[in-house]
Amino acid sequence: MAQKYERIVVVGGGSAGWMTATALATEFKGRIGIELVESEDIGIIGVGEATFPSIREYNRLVGIDEAEFLRATNGTYKLGIRFHDWLELGRDYFHTFGHFGNLFGSQTLWAQHRRMGLAEPLGQQCVPTVMAMQGRFVLPSEQAQFKYAYHFDAVQYAAFLRQLAIQRGVRHTQGRIVEVARRADGGVAALQLDDGRRVEGDLFIDCSGFRSLLLGDALQEPFVDFSHWLPVDGAWACPCERSGEEIKPYTEATALEGGWAWRIPLQNRTGHGHVFSSRFIDVDRAREQLLARLDGKPLAEPRLLRFTTGHRQRFWVHNVVSIGLSSGFLEPLESTSIYLIQDGIARLMAALTTGRPLDENDLALFNDGAARRFARIRDFIILHYCLTRRRDSELWRHVATMELPETLAFRLALWRGYGVLHEYDEEGFDATSWLAIHAGMDHWPERQDPVIAEIPAERALQALKGRSKAIAASVERMPLHRSTLRQVLGQ
Ligand SMILES: Cc1cc2nc3c(=O)[nH]c(=O)nc-3n(C[C@H](O)[C@H](O)[C@H](O)COP(=O)(O)OP(=O)(O)OC[C@H]3O[C@@H](n4cnc5c(N)ncnc54)[C@H](O)[C@@H]3O)c2cc1C
Repeated sequence: MAQKYERIVVVGGGSAGWMTATALATEFKGRIGIELVESEDIGIIGVGEATFPSIREYNRLVGIDEAEFLRATNGTYKLGIRFHDWLELGRDYFHTFGHFGNLFGSQTLWAQHRRMGLAEPLGQQCVPTVMAMQGRFVLPSEQAQFKYAYHFDAVQYAAFLRQLAIQRGVRHTQGRIVEVARRADGGVAALQLDDGRRVEGDLFIDCSGFRSLLLGDALQEPFVDFSHWLPVDGAWACPCERSGEEIKPYTEATALEGGWAWRIPLQNRTGHGHVFSSRFIDVDRAREQLLARLDGKPLAEPRLLRFTTGHRQRFWVHNVVSIGLSSGFLEPLESTSIYLIQDGIARLMAALTTGRPLDENDLALFNDGAARRFARIRDFIILHYCLTRRRDSELWRHVATMELPETLAFRLALWRGYGVLHEYDEEGFDATSWLAIHAGMDHWPERQDPVIAEIPAERALQALKGRSKAIAASVERMPLHRSTLRQVLGQ
């Protein structure tokens, strides 16, 4: 049945809820009633400190000034992620959002790089990687074009957006939802709050976090479980005091015995966490391992979070659309959750602005696209694990030998056999990102392109050396990350 919506109710006041409400209010400017219901007693998850470059696009669309945003959220700049110990103990690599320049526009040249015995790591050919390694940051310009993201305090980000959304006309209702009243067609009619109030709407956006109050609990939408491929199911999170003056312009992800640890630098503190699989490590041991890694005085007791990787089979059912953790969670390795929130918002906006009543086909399109996006990102995250040479603990032996999703197995075969970086639709990461992980994990095509034999190796090697020297020299002249940050913040 075709539907038009006049009153939208957003359930939840975490990043997902306020990002959705702010985007809706910005787009519809009072033409549609928007109400957000949240329970302060329940609170928000409050993690999610590392992002993906798309966050800048979201901020731009809703008109957020970068300096104001960084001030409000204790934000810092992020050029990528440094992975320690994923291939082998003692080996690390960097995944930047940038590209590797013309030199690596062709796989042929890249394979040639390999044939030369990897004279230099791939990262030395990449400006943002060299910037990250030197702790420097400048905003992109004509001369240096690259993508960047942020680290920020998730609780402060939600509060910042709340203010903005309310200014733009979003009605804010505080209260615990205790019952969900249903319509005859199976959709949601209203929310019953614990103080007796009733909130009615014709479209409900479920941003209720892992509880998945509407789509999961009320509508009983099945969960597509990915934990046989992504076995992590818990995390200890703990902020600590910043040590020293340096603020690294990147996230760190260190592979440990039963999972991996994050390190995220903010202006005022450093976020630490240990994401682990309880199948492979005891919860208390995971906590001890996190505490042993803190590089400053802890600012709170470590907090335990539990989850299952995967997503709801459908994301939009009847008049309920699920965005954020209520729709699914992969794991935080590539900081993709806020990106997936944005992706959900973009799909929702595209549907709501068609100017015509929506029908089952619109919902099917939404659901199909969102499910494929989850699957693409899932494959990209698995790539970080399955290429490991580590066999020193059960987790690593498991991920190195597990059966892969068909879509990923096909991509690996194409890469190994022919040097082809195959792309599907609804990709979360482009070919450059796939290249960065293959390179970082020392995973190269077996076949050598015949063209390579025609290029004198010595000349190519010199060209590569010249390029990396020029990059290193130009990066050395750039300001340190904390200087740029201070300048942007007006300190
Ligand atoms: C360990 C871990 C690390 C993460 N790291 C990252 C990262 O680095 N980068 C990234 O992008 N993402 C990360 N994420 C994901 C990120 O935290 C979330 O995507 C993001 O915070 C959005 O959460 P949310 O708004 O969906 O849910 P929540 O923040 O949990 O919000 C849920 C809301 O629903 C409300 N609610 C629930 N039940 C009721 C009720 N009965 N009545 C009224 N209100 C109710 C709550 O009060 C709350 O306001 C991480 C997640 C985990 C678990």
